[in-house]
Amino acid sequence: MRLNRLFLTGSNRVAPVSLTLGLLAMVLVPVAQTAENKLGGDHIPASDGDLVVHPINHATFAMAWKDKTIYVDPVGGGKRFDGLPKPDLILVTDIHGDHLDAGTLEAIGGSATIVAPAAVAEKLPEKLRKQTTVLANGETKSVAGITVEAVPMYNLTADRLKFHTKGRGNGYVVTLGDKRAYISGDTEDIPEMRALKNIDVAFVCMNLPYTMTVEQAAAAVREFKPKIVYPYHYRGSDTEKFKQLVGNDSGVEVRLRDWYK
Ligand code: ZN
Repeated sequence: MRLNRLFLTGSNRVAPVSLTLGLLAMVLVPVAQTAENKLGGDHIPASDGDLVVHPINHATFAMAWKDKTIYVDPVGGGKRFDGLPKPDLILVTDIHGDHLDAGTLEAIGGSATIVAPAAVAEKLPEKLRKQTTVLANGETKSVAGITVEAVPMYNLTADRLKFHTKGRGNGYVVTLGDKRAYISGDTEDIPEMRALKNIDVAFVCMNLPYTMTVEQAAAAVREFKPKIVYPYHYRGSDTEKFKQLVGNDSGVEVRLRDWYK
C-alpha cells in the first residue's frame, strides 16, 4: 500500500519526502510478510488472519487473506495494480469492458488462476484461457486453495434485460477462513441474491440503466442481511441514500468507500 500510495501521489513536492520515508520503512520492516500485510485496506477479522478489502475502481478491487491475494474484475491496465501483491486468484464476472479486459489480465495475470463464466473464457487469448477455470452459475470449486461458488447475476426489469441475460455472467461467493464474501457482479435484486445465507461481507452493485436502483439494492440487502455491505459499481448512484434505506435497524453495516478516486 505504501508503494501504491507513492505511485499515486500527484504532488511533486510530497513525493520525494514520502519516497525517502517509504524506502527507510522498507529497509526497517522485516522481509517476510504475508499478503495481508502488503495489501492495504479495510481489515475484517477472520479465522487465521484478517480478510483485507482494497477498493480500486468501479467494479475492480482486491482482497487478501493469509498469503492469498484475489483480484476481482481487474481492468484499466497493469499500472493500476503497481505496488499491490500479485494475485493468486482472479475472478471475472462478465464480458463487458468494466469487468473484462484481456490486456490487463495479460499484464497482471502471471501464474494466477482465473475463474470466469464460459462467455468470458471464450473471449480470452489462448494463454489466458489455459489458466482459466470455467464455472457456471451454481457450480462450486476449490481454486488456488480457495472455495469459489458461482452464483447468478442478471437483469429482471423489461427494458434492462438486454444488459445481462441470465446464465451468462457470474456473481461469486468466496470462502476465506470462516468468512463468506459475496460479489454481486452486475445484477438486479434477483431471488438468488435475496436467498443468500451467512454472508459476512457483500459487494453489491447499483447503477442505472445497467444494474439496479439503490432502492432495489437496499431491499435485497435487508433481506439477505450480510454483516457488512460495500456498495460498489455505483457510478452516479446516491450511496448515502442506500445507507439510509438499509437502515440501522437491519443490523447490516454499510461501508461507503470512494471507488472513483
Ligand atoms: Zn458493469
